[in-house]
Amino acid sequence: MANSRAPFDVLVIGGGNAALCAAITARRAGAKVCVLECATRDFRGGNSRHTRDIRYMHRAATDYVTSAYDEEEFWRDLLGVTGGATNERLARLTIRESETLGDWMPANGVRWQKPLRGTLHLTRSNLFMLGGGKAMMNAYYATAAKLGVEIAYETEVRELKLTDSQFVSAVASHNGAADECAAKALVVASGGFEANIPWLKEYWGEAADNFIIRGTPHNRGGMLKELLRHGAKPEGDPRGCHAVALDARAPKFDGGIVTRLDSVPFGIVVNKDVKRFYDEGEDFWPKRYAIWGRLIAEQPEQIAYSIIDSKGLPHFMPSVFPPVEAASIGALATALEIAPSALSAVVDEYNRSVRAGSFDPGSLDECRTEGLHPPKSHWARPIDTPPYYGYPLRPGITFTYLGVTVNEQAQVIMQDDRPAKNVFAAGEVMAGNILGKGYLAGFGLTIGSVFGRIAGREAARCAGF
Ligand SMILES: Cc1cc2nc3c(=O)[nH]c(=O)nc-3n(C[C@H](O)[C@H](O)[C@H](O)COP(=O)(O)OP(=O)(O)OC[C@H]3O[C@@H](n4cnc5c(N)ncnc54)[C@H](O)[C@@H]3O)c2cc1C
Repeated sequence: MANSRAPFDVLVIGGGNAALCAAITARRAGAKVCVLECATRDFRGGNSRHTRDIRYMHRAATDYVTSAYDEEEFWRDLLGVTGGATNERLARLTIRESETLGDWMPANGVRWQKPLRGTLHLTRSNLFMLGGGKAMMNAYYATAAKLGVEIAYETEVRELKLTDSQFVSAVASHNGAADECAAKALVVASGGFEANIPWLKEYWGEAADNFIIRGTPHNRGGMLKELLRHGAKPEGDPRGCHAVALDARAPKFDGGIVTRLDSVPFGIVVNKDVKRFYDEGEDFWPKRYAIWGRLIAEQPEQIAYSIIDSKGLPHFMPSVFPPVEAASIGALATALEIAPSALSAVVDEYNRSVRAGSFDPGSLDECRTEGLHPPKSHWARPIDTPPYYGYPLRPGITFTYLGVTVNEQAQVIMQDDRPAKNVFAAGEVMAGNILGKGYLAGFGLTIGSVFGRIAGREAARCAGF
């Protein structure tokens, strides 16, 4: 027998940014709101607690951003990364609505700070949260509690009950017991399915066993599956995921931001067979780091090795795990457990192909290789100055792109193209409508904040407020 909670006006599933934006907005509209969060109180906040910054439209410089970032520039940037895989109506709505976040977020407890040094060219377009995503989520939870939102931790929703596309109740598991919660309207804000390795395997095969998940182990896509089972229209490439080059020594889940490695442009990268496989200096790292996860995922055993010398070390953000260090290339290979003679040969061939130029990490400089396949187009300098350093790399999955289709009211669209009356979605579970491919730094939070607020407002309206 399931425990039954008294019915709510609005039920929110998930405990990250999109969920809390929805819960706070619905509560402020007058609705009685309950949030069901899978994680413990200490680990609440999903992937949102790993974030640092949010992209938003603004018309002028402020204390925290250096100049204007208008709708058209934002839209062009989005078109650039998605190559058109975006719904323009929803995208422009997100961009325009993002303008109010600079005030809305502090009004709900978030504090800004000046951009961090070494961040990826974001000082004009993005706001940085003081204390990062963890402090942001703590602020939102404090606001929600003050407003009277009920929050249930360690409560994993397993089943959604819908009749004729109308939400009736959700069945969750709490302390080993079933817990049923009815509400007049539902907001699903339960993230992607990146932590569900068996589901990733459906598209990636055994390779998915070697993926590292950068965020919460709780984003297993159970609610996405439930919505699809009830006939929601899918959106986004099921195989698509945002993946970066991660230190292979990172924990399997929840390593967060610090395990990303930015050493690639300053040396060479080889796979397990000690072969280079891609141009390490193709473009500026902020424009390329997100392709390296997929590149490594396509290599044997999904592992690669970044090799640099002492000249390269000062040019990227220090790594959280110290690099493997050796006095010779052969010794470095031995320490990394790859073939020493093969690595020496690859480094020699690379060194011979390097054309002298003036090295400048701040520009697409003329330091490149000649006659090497694949080439290294910029920042190519001989790897010849000991000590030598190496990092093992694995694909680090940030989020998946598959989600449900929504309209401008954040209503979930069913396969007959009609909206489910009282079912709304926000955040990563619907972000594929707007970001079908690629990534714009800080845009995950933008989509979740804007659609979280819309979902909260519309769910409250649907419940009579
Ligand atoms: C390391 C890292 C750094 C990032 N940095 C940035 C950044 O600086 N800026 C940016 O914009 N984006 C960043 N992102 C992306 C960003 O985290 C996401 O776009 C955003 O947090 C998604 O918010 P969300 O609310 O949709 O999902 P999440 O914050 O992941 O929340 C999902 C919630 O759903 C809960 N949940 C899942 N299933 C269930 C269930 N069945 N029942 C109950 N609860 C459930 C989870 O416990 C979790 O609380 C980063 C991601 C990572 C991993």
